[in-house]
Amino acid sequence: MAAALAARGAGVRDILLLERDQHLGGILNQCIHPGFGLHRFKAELTGPEYADRFARMTAAAPEIEVSLRSFVVRLTPERRVSYLKPGALEEVQARAVIMATGCRERTREMIPIPGTRPAGVYPAGLAQKMVNMEGWIPGREAVIIGSGDIGLIMARRMALEGVKVRAVIEIQDKTRGLVRNVVQCLEDFGIPLYMRHKVARIYGRDRVEGVDVVRVDDNFAAVPGSGFSIPCDTVLVSVGLIPENELLEAAGAAIDPATNGPASAELNRTSIPGVFACGNSFKVYDLVDWVSRDSELAGRAAAEYLGAGR
Ligand SMILES: Cc1cc2nc3c(=O)[nH]c(=O)nc-3n(C[C@H](O)[C@H](O)[C@H](O)COP(=O)(O)OP(=O)(O)OC[C@H]3O[C@@H](n4cnc5c(N)ncnc54)[C@H](O)[C@@H]3O)c2cc1C
Repeated sequence: MAAALAARGAGVRDILLLERDQHLGGILNQCIHPGFGLHRFKAELTGPEYADRFARMTAAAPEIEVSLRSFVVRLTPERRVSYLKPGALEEVQARAVIMATGCRERTREMIPIPGTRPAGVYPAGLAQKMVNMEGWIPGREAVIIGSGDIGLIMARRMALEGVKVRAVIEIQDKTRGLVRNVVQCLEDFGIPLYMRHKVARIYGRDRVEGVDVVRVDDNFAAVPGSGFSIPCDTVLVSVGLIPENELLEAAGAAIDPATNGPASAELNRTSIPGVFACGNSFKVYDLVDWVSRDSELAGRAAAEYLGAGR
């Protein structure tokens, strides 16, 4: 929405905004906690409130056509976009394309944790969606792997729903999360944070029954004799996000193998002329305020490419 509004503001008059979901706003819709928009709107908003402000501006812009439940399945280097709407496969030829496809979560399989494969292990963002949007509580006793903001916020969210959050386990010696989140999400709820520790094993047959935790040395190897077990029925994995760029990659754009973002010397550019990327699909941002700011740059860059407003 930020990119579309900025492109319009820079003179582009025929903009199609494709969204596979039935609402605009992306991940913001599941982030019902406050803390959004402090920079952008100088107000403390929840995620849906932040999204709503942009949705209203988008609705008020007649040159921006919004198409919901529109799943983009193909992008060509010539900027032909194919998307599925209920019951139809549509195609559109664009003069410029801005990809704003967000990111996906790293999973348990990406940080190999030995043990069994019982039910009860969830990516933390998925658990956030289950709790906040579907009304499902994933379990009764949880351990959270990773102390980034999503892990911290989910620790508090689960505690507020009556789940006993036994611990947050962090392999590094400092958290990547905001200090305010460590205080407000863990300390205020008496949830222990184990720095320099890792989950060495998840066990349980059908359902998670517990995890083994060990302290790690400077090489992240287990310190002998430091192990202990924590009984739990749920493990939330919050170990990083990966820019979502399957469509760009399939279109032949250069992708940086280290980040999975578009390989580019300049913000919001891709190697395909006229195809731009913004938000978490370009690089993973901590704050939505910066996503909006940089996505506006993408909108203006696309307008400049099109020579709009001249
Ligand atoms: C789980 C999680 C929690 C977060 N919590 C916070 C927080 O508390 N505070 C904060 O400031 N920031 C938070 N962030 C940071 C986040 O960077 C921003 O909140 C921001 O909203 C991300 O915006 P985005 O548009 O880049 O991505 P997204 O919000 O993920 O939007 C991408 C959109 O693209 C759509 N899409 C993807 N592929 C296709 C396709 N093929 N066809 C059609 N549509 C498609 C998706 O449905 C989605 O709507 C969080 C991020 C995550 C992942």
